[in-house]
Amino acid sequence: MTFKNNAQGGGRVRRGGGGGGMALGAGGGIGGLLLVGLFLLLGGNPEDLNQGAQQDPSQGAQGQQLENCSTGADANANAECRVDFTVKSLDAMWAKLLPAQAGIEYAEPGVTVFTNQTQTGCGGASSATGPFYCPNDQTAYFDVTFFEQIEQLGGSDAPLAQEYIVAHEVGHHIQNLEGTLGLSNYNDPGEDSAAVALETQADCYAGIWAHHAAQGEDALLEPITDDQLATAIETARAVGDDNIQQRSGGDVNPDTWTHGSSEDRQNAFMAGYQSGNMSSCDFLRRGNYRDA
Ligand SMILES: [Zn+2]
Repeated sequence: MTFKNNAQGGGRVRRGGGGGGMALGAGGGIGGLLLVGLFLLLGGNPEDLNQGAQQDPSQGAQGQQLENCSTGADANANAECRVDFTVKSLDAMWAKLLPAQAGIEYAEPGVTVFTNQTQTGCGGASSATGPFYCPNDQTAYFDVTFFEQIEQLGGSDAPLAQEYIVAHEVGHHIQNLEGTLGLSNYNDPGEDSAAVALETQADCYAGIWAHHAAQGEDALLEPITDDQLATAIETARAVGDDNIQQRSGGDVNPDTWTHGSSEDRQNAFMAGYQSGNMSSCDFLRRGNYRDA
């Protein structure tokens, strides 16, 4: 359990369509590219790999609201409701924090859950794609069956670990609002690349959420326990490039990294979690945040 059982909310997340007969064959859509090698796991910027046409930002808001996601107890029992409540909690935090610390007004991202496949502003996505944020329609996409797959990488499927992933993707939306997301270039990877800086920054932003999520009278979350925190760290480590390269049987080659090492990702999450401040996540060295 992470949410207060009597927390009220829901209605924030939409269900994506099945893609309307769209073919997701070899090479088609984001999923086809992913099969090349988990390259887009927790993908930062699929746009680089699949140039989608600019679309109306409201496109991602289409679809039905989730049913039976009205209380924290629903979010504790159901993974899609958990996404819904996590986004509601993220909205509340970023609406205060982003103007206060970065001088930028927060605009809510679209958030879509889907099963099997769906169409996005960045092309077709399938369950194999993994969660990602599409800047073209400013929408984060989740197939919650991914959360179970994370265990195969040594990560945790526990609620706070799932919430870390949701908060990471919304972190990319924050970067989009900051105007920095476009610096990510998977064609220019490496442990010192902008891509890694942006991915670890999204981990750090997820840590900021965990820092604030249980604070205040309106908090939707129960206080985070050490055991829960450990599950989020486990998952942050699991999606490290070195871990993924090892587990897929390849050599560990930092020159090809796009998301950072297990150590980097854990440290980034913890930096945000411990401080609660965007200045702790300034991996692009912009120097323009103020603690508040
Ligand atoms: Zn990412």
